Amino acid sequence: MEEVGHHNLEDRDLYEGAVRRRVCSKCIDFGEDGICHTQDIKGCAIFRFLPELVAIAEHLHEPTMELYIQAVRENICVKCRNQTPGDTCELRGKLDCGLDRYLELVFEAIDEVNTSRKRNQKRE
Ligand code: SF4
Ligand code: SF4
Repeated sequence: MEEVGHHNLEDRDLYEGAVRRRVCSKCIDFGEDGICHTQDIKGCAIFRFLPELVAIAEHLHEPTMELYIQAVRENICVKCRNQTPGDTCELRGKLDCGLDRYLELVFEAIDEVNTSRKRNQKRE
């Protein structure tokens, strides 16, 4: 897949809302205080790289997760700076990356928003 570039994200609040509902609500780092307690000191990669994730979802329409995992590694992990030479990531190794842990749910959340946006565009 060609490299996915960073771009401004239209309707970012819709994508963020869907991620909060579908992913954060099930996330082990989401505290009873209603706050995210991610181990990632830069903040959860889902929100740091939301435009890139939406771009990946636009490019890929696959039944299995393999190509999504590959696209995330090639387009996001490389610029995340938590990844160290050799393509290893301590957070990923410890299952402490929210994006890596819930990748499938993240793309389900993005698809939900894309489907509803397309439906609304048809009505206009
Ligand atoms: S780590 Fe990510 S998925 Fe988990 S609660 Fe925080 S923002 Fe949501
Ligand atoms: S797996 Fe590691 S390098 Fe990739 S997004 Fe998560 S924290 Fe960043």
